[in-house]
Amino acid sequence: MKYDELQKILKDSGKNYDFPLIDKAYRLAEKSHAGQFRKTGEPYIEHPVSVAGILAEMGMDSACIAAALLHDVVEDTDVSLEEIEKEFNKDIALLVDGVTKLGQITFSTLEEQQAENLRKMLLAMSKDIRVMIIKLCDRLHNMRTAQGWKPQKQRDKALEVMDIYAPIAHRLGMSNIKDELQDISLRILDPVGYEEVKTAISRNGTAQAFVDSIVRTVQQRLEEFGLKDATVFGRVKSVYGVYRKVYIQNRDWGEIYDIYAVRIILNSVAECYNALMLVHDIFRPIPSRFKDYISSPKANMYQSLHTSVIGKDGVPFEIQIRTWEMHYTAEYGIAAHWKYKSGIQGRDNMEEKLAWVRQLLERQQDADDDVEILRGIKSDLVPDDIYVFTPKGDVVNLPAGATVIDFAYAIHSAVGNRMIGAKVNGRMVSIDYKVSTGEIVEVVTGPQDKGPSRDWLNIVVTSEAKSKIRSWFKKERKEENIAEGKAALEKELRRNMINIPDEDYDDFVEDLARRQKFNNKEELYAALGYGGLQMSKVIFKAKDAYAKIQKEARAAEQAPRPVVAQIKKPKSSNGVIVEGLDNCLVKFAKCCSPLPGDEIIGFVTRGFGVSIHKKSCVNAQPENIDRENKARWVKAYWADNIKEDFKASLEIVALDNGMALAEVSTILNNMRVPIFALNARQTPDKRLSMSVTIGVSNTVHLNSVIAKFNKAKTVISVTRS
Ligand code: MN
Repeated sequence: MKYDELQKILKDSGKNYDFPLIDKAYRLAEKSHAGQFRKTGEPYIEHPVSVAGILAEMGMDSACIAAALLHDVVEDTDVSLEEIEKEFNKDIALLVDGVTKLGQITFSTLEEQQAENLRKMLLAMSKDIRVMIIKLCDRLHNMRTAQGWKPQKQRDKALEVMDIYAPIAHRLGMSNIKDELQDISLRILDPVGYEEVKTAISRNGTAQAFVDSIVRTVQQRLEEFGLKDATVFGRVKSVYGVYRKVYIQNRDWGEIYDIYAVRIILNSVAECYNALMLVHDIFRPIPSRFKDYISSPKANMYQSLHTSVIGKDGVPFEIQIRTWEMHYTAEYGIAAHWKYKSGIQGRDNMEEKLAWVRQLLERQQDADDDVEILRGIKSDLVPDDIYVFTPKGDVVNLPAGATVIDFAYAIHSAVGNRMIGAKVNGRMVSIDYKVSTGEIVEVVTGPQDKGPSRDWLNIVVTSEAKSKIRSWFKKERKEENIAEGKAALEKELRRNMINIPDEDYDDFVEDLARRQKFNNKEELYAALGYGGLQMSKVIFKAKDAYAKIQKEARAAEQAPRPVVAQIKKPKSSNGVIVEGLDNCLVKFAKCCSPLPGDEIIGFVTRGFGVSIHKKSCVNAQPENIDRENKARWVKAYWADNIKEDFKASLEIVALDNGMALAEVSTILNNMRVPIFALNARQTPDKRLSMSVTIGVSNTVHLNSVIAKFNKAKTVISVTRS
């Protein structure tokens, strides 16, 4: 983008921009970046101007536009922050500084460092949210021009966007930016999947006609009713939105009601409910799919009525009904605050809207395990929100899968700690009851000193409830924690066949405690007891220590001895070997669903493992492979030496009528199950008993083989031996 285009956007906005200030910022930026070029070839200044342009379209204020123009000046040229403060003002200097610092935070693959960096990022946001809005626009423009980067850098940046920036944009309600960031990143990370979905969405030439006809029907009906101002239009879900449902959540295409949606925008909330009534009159609604986000807004401020209905020919689709104000908030999220609220300085309820940032920061401070907290934050950032009510009618917002215990702790830790049960819509429910939107939840409390139960740690899903339960145990139950931790460790060691002689046991645990940086074994027990230390970490170290002891013992005896502690390796590649890649993540392409026995080929996606296609799949044909992706098609074949883990032995008893053996082997052949051994003998009662060892990919597979045998005419019984 050129500067005159930016100026035009600013002028056309009709807002009172400080043009002298913006001009001054542009001149300084242009002078400082003179002679610098972007990887894509154009003069560097086009990048800050484009970022400012995105912000201008969002209606951000003069300070933001100026700061965007200057955002790379401190980092990439010799202009200092002090000069910016002197030439402009403190506000702009703080914004530039914030964006520069955010830019220096990189997200490594180490979860510990990610957690630390995410904390820094949240801190920057809590100081001034405009810093994050500028940073999101900066990243968006960089992603739009990602082709200038080397492939590895494209991939790293795309992963960072998926993990951090898109969830933040989502949490800030900036759906336009979130959708575009995710679609670009998906195209980089899984180009095949991206194209598959994109084609599938647009393949249907009839889809557009279908949506258009609904738009016309709805428009006409609204006009008849007197809602002449209504704006009605069709929309298609983002590519990533569909990809997530089909590939990640494994839904059927038929289950996705909102690929096509029709939006109705009106002037008032009352009109919205009238429109809903009319829509339900024209089309048959799907009862479970109605959501009233007007009375219960999402955590990111989103408001609308959603209903899924059945259209002509039984095709389901979604209708979203909202006011213009809700529409702006849905598109621009937090930024709508600048675009449409007259009082730009006014803090109205923005403080409240950003409360979650502070909550995350506070929760992180008293956390013991950074990595776990990061996972918590990630799940808090991408909520599938549920809204439930207190008996007084207050709304409590919880992530999907939350239980009544999560609800209690969301109210207050004192409520959670005293909880003995819960009522949902007036009826007692079990303690692990998962709440759903719209339910009224009442916590039944007991005596003051009751305290939570340890089992709750396995039931709750919010990081808030987890950390509150843990901190209760940490404080209140030292002795119990030690006893609990001691018993749990003994049990886990036995379960992992780590058998330490009694006389060595205390030393062994003391050593483990020191490896985890505790002073003594009591501290280790206590941490395990209240849940501040994960058992898996301790067991991992214990296996290591035990293996060493075993090795020493063996060496001492100078005689081979069976290894007692066997660490089971994770089954890696679904029985597929990908040439040159050991133990890689493998998924089977939905377009051709290859089965064992098919000739196959692999495609190395960026960040989502190797996707396996049939060699005959249309996507794998040379004419459909573009040059850029050619190198990512790799040889793959089914593991012909199926591992021991995948061998199963069956005892089959069949009628000895001369057909049984043929029938059994035909079944195995048809199911493409490899046979490793087959023995048949006649029994005294004139039956045929067969022992067969076959290769299966898992128990589900095995059960399907057994089911097939049970249906066979000659087979009398099948048992696993
Ligand atoms: Mn930049």
